[in-house]
Amino acid sequence: MKYDVKSKNAEEFINHEEILDTVRYAEEHKNDIALIDSILEKAKLRKGLSHREASVLLACDDEKKVQEIYDLAEQIKKDFYGNRIVLFAPLYLSNYCVNGCLYCPYHMKNKHIPRKKLTQEEVAKEVIALQDMGHKRLAIEAGEDPVNNPIEYILDCIKTIYSIKHKNGAIRRVNVNIAATTVENYQKLRDAGIGTYILFQETYHKKNYEILHPTGPKHDYNYHTEAMDRAMEGGIDDVGIGVLFGLDNYQYEFAGLLMHAEHLEAVHGVGPHTISVPRVKRADDIDPTEFDNSLTDEMFCKIAACIRIAVPYTGMIISTRESAEVREKIIRLGVSQISGGSRTSVGGYCEEERPHDTEQFDVSDARTLDEVVNWLMRSDYIPSFCTACYREGRTGDRFMELCKSGQIQNCCHPNALMTLKEFLLDYASEDTRRIGEAMIEKEIANIPKDKVKEIVRERLVKIEAGDRDFRF
Ligand code: SAM
Repeated sequence: MKYDVKSKNAEEFINHEEILDTVRYAEEHKNDIALIDSILEKAKLRKGLSHREASVLLACDDEKKVQEIYDLAEQIKKDFYGNRIVLFAPLYLSNYCVNGCLYCPYHMKNKHIPRKKLTQEEVAKEVIALQDMGHKRLAIEAGEDPVNNPIEYILDCIKTIYSIKHKNGAIRRVNVNIAATTVENYQKLRDAGIGTYILFQETYHKKNYEILHPTGPKHDYNYHTEAMDRAMEGGIDDVGIGVLFGLDNYQYEFAGLLMHAEHLEAVHGVGPHTISVPRVKRADDIDPTEFDNSLTDEMFCKIAACIRIAVPYTGMIISTRESAEVREKIIRLGVSQISGGSRTSVGGYCEEERPHDTEQFDVSDARTLDEVVNWLMRSDYIPSFCTACYREGRTGDRFMELCKSGQIQNCCHPNALMTLKEFLLDYASEDTRRIGEAMIEKEIANIPKDKVKEIVRERLVKIEAGDRDFRF
């Protein structure tokens, strides 16, 4: 097999030898200051880096240069994403699963966890609970089971979710995290109006992938790795990739992740919309220490910084798998979306207490959405519930264009302020409302165009009077 970024074959666009060469090259050049300086100079052009260049930065352990990497990541994040953080929540539909993933408690052999699948009535109740928290954007999650969770079931759930309008609530964007499927099924998901199709690679290392997925359809490495090509072929413009850090060594995964992004860009003309950086967590019968590739919090942050520099236009997602402390650090370095108030069990949002019996992983950040919003604003981030882009047709390359042109400040920034205003009026505690109102007032001044500023002010008055869902 030869490395070919444009190939449709997983083993050619994620080529094992190319990854090994890249990791070796990075190790050999990690203290080559002249090379690192030239890579940093290229990165400052904000057009991204190749997997090789980014791998050298990741390997570099020169203290001064590492600080430069962090500073640049922070600056690029500010330039492209400002100080906005988009909020979402996962919604677990079903934990029926026919796969044998060794790191996931939903694996088929786990006979002692209760298996649960939400009825449409239960989906509606979960959605109402999520709307009552203030969420506007969900990521639906399900195990792979063609009998219990066929595509028709997922489509029914999406329909139900979009149909619920409780008080001032609405779910305006449903992202979907379900197993790799066919082009026809991806077309059906597109027609159902999904936002991003998300699928984690888990690991790019084929041999280990096959060991970690010993049974079930997910065992097929190529079918799984080529899923995003089928999704794009099926008309889904926004796809989200990620690896489950801890399963294999991070240098290998990092190179694989960027090669995947390069492949999507080369073949489909647009890279991934988002990259997620989950780490393996304790869960039911899963002990994360059994995978001896865990990485330190420090290296985890460095990975995020290097991703930010390598793919400046790609959103980065961090979930409640991480503690508040790690999230605080990593947000600064390039994360643009976080989950908040999450429950990772099937039916979890309708329970008074956080249930653990069907949880997919232990949640490290267990704060409520109001607490997360409050915390973000105290750290000078604007919590955003915006879902405008895909509803205005700004997906795929059209979103990337907006990002590259710097117009985001006239568009995403005001949208963030208007959706924050909705949250403050409808769902926030008194303290959060007070901080939020002051933040909106201060941030209006940062909208570049006067005309946009004026429109935002008018719309804020209308929101105060009860209107909802304005967007640029
Ligand atoms: N079944 C689908 C699939 O195979 O892609 C949907 C994904 S699953 C509900 C969501 C993700 O959770 C998985 O892709 C995996 O990366 C992650 N996950 C599974 N077990 C985990 C664990 N113990 N700790 C952290 N994340 C885990």
